[in-house]
Amino acid sequence: MRAIHSAIRDAAKLCRLVQAKYLVAATKTVGAQSEPVTIADYGSQAIICRALQMHYPEDAVVSEESGAQFAQLVSEEQRTQVLELLAAVLGQPVSADELLAWLDFGVGRSAARTWVIDPIDGTKGFLAQRHYAIACGLLVEGRLQAGIVAAPGYANGAGALFYTRDGDAWRAPLVAGGGVKVNVSQRRDVREFLAVQSFERAHASKSRMGRAREYAGLGNARVIEMDSMAKYALVACGDADLYMRLPRAGSRYAHKIWDHAAGVALVRAGGGAVTDLDGGPLDFSQGDTLPNTGMIVSNGQHHARVVEAAQRVMAE
Ligand code: AMP
Ligand code: MG
Repeated sequence: MRAIHSAIRDAAKLCRLVQAKYLVAATKTVGAQSEPVTIADYGSQAIICRALQMHYPEDAVVSEESGAQFAQLVSEEQRTQVLELLAAVLGQPVSADELLAWLDFGVGRSAARTWVIDPIDGTKGFLAQRHYAIACGLLVEGRLQAGIVAAPGYANGAGALFYTRDGDAWRAPLVAGGGVKVNVSQRRDVREFLAVQSFERAHASKSRMGRAREYAGLGNARVIEMDSMAKYALVACGDADLYMRLPRAGSRYAHKIWDHAAGVALVRAGGGAVTDLDGGPLDFSQGDTLPNTGMIVSNGQHHARVVEAAQRVMAE
């Protein structure tokens, strides 16, 4: 696992270089939706999957980006840029063929262990220089076992690496160094509750989440909006107390497992609660998407009350 931590730290280094040097997004089509993608998404996935190939050659991978999409969307100039960045971060020359092979490593394979990769979660936040995350979850026989989330925007941009180890949640500096064990908060006082939610209004219904907080008696909670799985990390380490994701009216969006696996593992390991709107666990065993509707993530205090409130809002 340490090799994967170090690959994720390298991926974060590449993402920061891209932000500093060349930030240009292409647009990819996912179902009926268009989403931005940058060379950092591909570079980050390549670094993580390269490490998986070296250390876990038999394992399966479910990852957000693909070699085919890279070949289709990335210009000659951007291809050169990403190969140069990879060479700089990895300390060795990298060819286009190697990059393509890393991007697709482990895809479509069935194995007991499946790594679930989001090379840049919150690409819109990444582009806007807000929050983003680099995430890797591990499923064993379809059950969530472990997670790693790099959050470069954590602590005003100092960044942090969050990970599970032996069932506990840990936080380490992003660039290098050992970790400390972290836990969800013990906060119960609703006046001191801190809620986090998506920045992008297309991703969740802010009005529904506001009403659900009110119905749950958390109407006075402070709310911080931020992109990416960094929100799960904040709950896991006790910085935040509640993270809700209620679908917008009429939304049929099916959540991708790579947007949640690593974060859910962290919160569980930190002692928190993660359920869907029915109050049941998220099911990572059904392929690329989750069968669940909505997410409620908390320090465990008032969780049932929030689930009930969310159900009431959804029924309105
Ligand atoms: P966040 O920054 O927490 O809103 O999460 C970012 C993730 O939301 C992205 O990785 C997208 O895959 C996902 N996403 C994109 N469109 C939607 C949508 N309509 N509803 C819910 N999530 C979405
Ligand atoms: Mg994502």
